[in-house]
Amino acid sequence: MKGLTKIMIISSEDLKKIKDLIDQAETIGVVSHVNPDGDNLGSSLAFARTLRNYGKDTEVLGHDSVDDYLKFLPDLEYYKNDYKDSYDLLLILDASELDRIGDAQIVAKNSKKTAVIDHHLGGKITSDLNIIHPESPATCQLIYEIIENLNLPLDEKTASLLFTGIVTDTGRFMYYDTNRETFEIAGKLIDAGANKDSIYQALYQNKPIKTLKFETNLIANAEFMDNKVFAVSSKEKVSEFGVQMGDSEHVVNILRDLEGIEVSMLLKEYDNGEYKVSMRSKGIDVSKVARANGGGGHANASGFSIFDDNLESAAKKARDILKEI
Ligand code: 5GP
Ligand code: MN
Repeated sequence: MKGLTKIMIISSEDLKKIKDLIDQAETIGVVSHVNPDGDNLGSSLAFARTLRNYGKDTEVLGHDSVDDYLKFLPDLEYYKNDYKDSYDLLLILDASELDRIGDAQIVAKNSKKTAVIDHHLGGKITSDLNIIHPESPATCQLIYEIIENLNLPLDEKTASLLFTGIVTDTGRFMYYDTNRETFEIAGKLIDAGANKDSIYQALYQNKPIKTLKFETNLIANAEFMDNKVFAVSSKEKVSEFGVQMGDSEHVVNILRDLEGIEVSMLLKEYDNGEYKVSMRSKGIDVSKVARANGGGGHANASGFSIFDDNLESAAKKARDILKEI
C-alpha cells in the first residue's frame, strides 16, 4: 500500500461535524434531486445503505420514476415517494438549489437538522452543514471520502452504487475534473466489491436498438452553427420511437464530442409547458448562462428550464441563448 495517499478534499472539521450530526440523529432522510441521474441515485442510495448498516433508521426520499438505464442499480426499492414529514437529520445530496428537491422542500423545512453534500458550482441551499466542493467530479466521490474517513460500513452494493455515480458523472473518467483521487477511489471501490463489469455492461453495452434509431434521428435533425450545435427532443418523437425522454440524454454528449464543436445544446419537451435545456461544452463555461436562466450545473455540463406554451417558441428562445454564448 506504500505511496497511497489519504484522500482529503473535505476538511477534518467538516468530517467531524457530519459525524456528530449523524451520531445525534435517530431518523435520517436522504434526498437527491428530481429527474435523478447516476450520481444522484448512486450517492443517495449508497449513503442511505451505509447509514442503515451503521445502525441508523434511514430512508431515501424519491421523486420521479427512475429512467430505464438506471434500473439495474441495487437498492432501488428504497427510492420511494412515501416518506416521513420530518427527520432528525435530512441529508440533501447532489443538489445546489432547494427547488431541485421538489416536494421534499417541506421535509427540509420540518427536519430538525439539514446538511448538504454537493459538487455543483454556486450552491444556494442554507443548511446546518454545507459540504460543497465543486472541484469534486462527483457527489459519490465526496460520499466515499466521508465513508472512508469516518470508518463507516462499505459493502459490495454500496461500492457498486458509488462506482456507478463516479463513472457516469466523469463521463467514464474523462471530464476535466477527473483527478488522481478519482482513479484511486475507483480502485478502492473495486477492492470493496464494486461490480465493474456488470456496471459497464448495464450502462454502456445495453442500448436498445430503438434508442439508437431515436438518437440517430435527433442527430440527423440537429442544427450546426459554427462551433455550436442545437438539437430538439419532442414528445412526438419520443412516442414515435417508443422510447423515454431520458433516452435523448446521450445525444447532447455525442454532439459535444464532434470535431470543431465547443458547445452542444439539447431541448427536451416535458409536460405542463416545461422545456429542459441541457448544455455540454469542452472549454467554455456554460454554467454561467445556465444560472442566468434560472438553472445551474457545472462549467462543462449545465441545464435550465424554459416555460412556454409551444415547442417552436421554446426552441427559438433556447437557440437564441445558445447563439449568445
Ligand atoms: P443535465 O443536462 O444532464 O440535465 O444536467 C447537467 C448538469 O446541470 C447537472 O449537474 C444538473 O444537476 C444541472 N442542471 C440541469 N438542469 C438544471 C436546473 O434546472 N437547475 C439547476 N440548478 N441545475 C441543473
Ligand atoms: Mn453529480
